[in-house]
Amino acid sequence: MKIHDTMTRKPVPFEPLEPGHVRMYTCGPTVYNYAHIGNFRAYVWEDLLRRTLKFLGYRVTQVMNITDIEDKIITRMQETNCSLEDVTGPNIDAFFEDIDILRIERAEHYPRATDHIPEMLELAEKLKDKGHTYASQGSLYFKIDSFADYGRLSHLDKREIRDGARIDNDEYEKEDARDFVLWKGFREGEVGWESPFGKGRPGWHLECSAMAMKYLGKTFDLHTGGVDNIFPHHENEIAQSEAANGEQFVRYWMHAAHLMVDGQKMSKSKGNFYTLRDILDKGYDPRAIRLLLLSTHYRTPLNFTLKGLAQSGAELDRLDDLLDRLDREELAPGNNQAYEERIAAELSAFGKALAEDLNISGALGALFRLVRETNSRLDQGELPSGSREVLREALLRMDTVLMVMTREESAGLDAEVEALIASRAAAREARDWAEADRIRDALSDMGIVLEDTPQGVHWKRKGLGPGNGE
Ligand code: AMP
Ligand code: ZN
Repeated sequence: MKIHDTMTRKPVPFEPLEPGHVRMYTCGPTVYNYAHIGNFRAYVWEDLLRRTLKFLGYRVTQVMNITDIEDKIITRMQETNCSLEDVTGPNIDAFFEDIDILRIERAEHYPRATDHIPEMLELAEKLKDKGHTYASQGSLYFKIDSFADYGRLSHLDKREIRDGARIDNDEYEKEDARDFVLWKGFREGEVGWESPFGKGRPGWHLECSAMAMKYLGKTFDLHTGGVDNIFPHHENEIAQSEAANGEQFVRYWMHAAHLMVDGQKMSKSKGNFYTLRDILDKGYDPRAIRLLLLSTHYRTPLNFTLKGLAQSGAELDRLDDLLDRLDREELAPGNNQAYEERIAAELSAFGKALAEDLNISGALGALFRLVRETNSRLDQGELPSGSREVLREALLRMDTVLMVMTREESAGLDAEVEALIASRAAAREARDWAEADRIRDALSDMGIVLEDTPQGVHWKRKGLGPGNGE
C-alpha cells in the first residue's frame, strides 16, 4: 500500500513495523458537545483506512481516545453549572450511537483521558527528569527549545519560536509556537487531580501521547487526524513522546482535509455545523451521508451541501435498484466466463485503487462500471444465475470497505439484534410469552422497535427509518 505521509509530504510505501499488523492511533472527539459531520468526515475516512487495511489482509489495532477533560469541557461545565460527567456522559453516548449509524467499525480501544491521569503524570515526570520542562505559576510547561526537532511535522519556521514565551490554551495557531502546558495548575471552579506538580489537570497534548504509548507502545505505525491537528496538537505529541523515550514516536502520519461550509471549516466554534441528528431529521438515509463523506478523496476539502447529499442518495438508489433486480429477476442457470473475468478484474481494480493512498474515485469507478454492465446484461437477459452469485460475492467484498450496500442498520449492533430477535422467535415458538416480552423490552432498551408482519419480524432503530428486511 502507498500512503501520503504528512511528515515527508510525499507518497511513500507503507510497511508496518510488525509484518501484517498495523497499529494506529486516531484522535477522537472532545466530548463537550455533539460531534458534527465535519468530525465525521475525519472518522469516516479513518474507517475507510481501517477497512482498506483489513481488505488488503492486515490485522489492525486501532486506538481512538475520548478527550473528556479539556478547556472547552471546563468552559461548558462553568456555563451550565454541571459536573464533568454530566457534560461528557451524554456526548460520549451520542458519539457511539453516531458511529454505529455511520457504520464506523469500532476501534479496539477507546481510552478516556480521565482514566489515564497516572500515565500522563508518569510521562510528565519523565520529561521533567530529562530537563524538558519548567514550572511557572502552578503549571508545568514543555520547553520547545529543548527538543531540536520541534516543528518538523508542521514545517514551522523555527524563527517564529519565541524563547520562553508560554501558552496555556489547548488549541492555538501557528503564530503562537510557544512553550506549551503539560499540567495546568488548579483554578477555583475547575476540575483537578493531586500530583507531584501540585493540584491540576492535564493539557490536551499530554493526554494523547500518554494513551498512545500505553496501548500501542513507544513506536507505532500510523497516526491520523484532521489537518487542524497537525499544529499544535501532533507537533506537541511528537515533542513529548520523543523527548521522553528517545525513540521515533510515529512512523507515518496521515491527515484529512476539512469538511467545509461556504468556504469555511465546519466547526462548533463558528456555529456553521450540522450534527448527524440534524441531517437524519431531514429524512436522509445514513448510508447516503456515509457515501457522501467517503466519496471525496481525503486530502481534498469537501464542500458540504444538501444537494451533494441528495446526489449521494441517488447513487445509493442505483446500487439498491441493482441489488433488488438481482434478488427479483428469474435467471437462467449457468455461468458466463467472460463476464466473471470482468467481475474479477473490477474487484482487483477496486483494491488497487484503494491501495494507492485511498483513491476512492478509482474504487467507486470500478464498482459503478460493474453496476452499469450488469444492468445492461439483465436488460438483455444475458446474466446467468451462477454469474449472479459471483457478482454478489464481489459486491459483498467491496462492501466490507464501503459499507453502503447492505441495508441493515449499522454494522456494530446488527449481529446482537439479530441474535435477540432469533431468541425471541424461539421463545414464541415455545409459547414462552414472558421470555418473548422480556426480549422485546431488552431490544427496546437498545432503541430497537419490532414490528410483527405476515412476512416476518421487521426491526428499526427508533427514529431512524426502516431497518432490516425492508
Ligand atoms: P475535535 O473534537 O475538535 O477534537 O475533533 C475531532 C476530530 O475531527 C479531529 O480529528 C479533527 O481534526 C476533526 N475535525 C474537526 N473539524 C473538522 C472538519 N470541519 N472537517 C474534517 N475534520 C474535522
Ligand atoms: Zn490527539
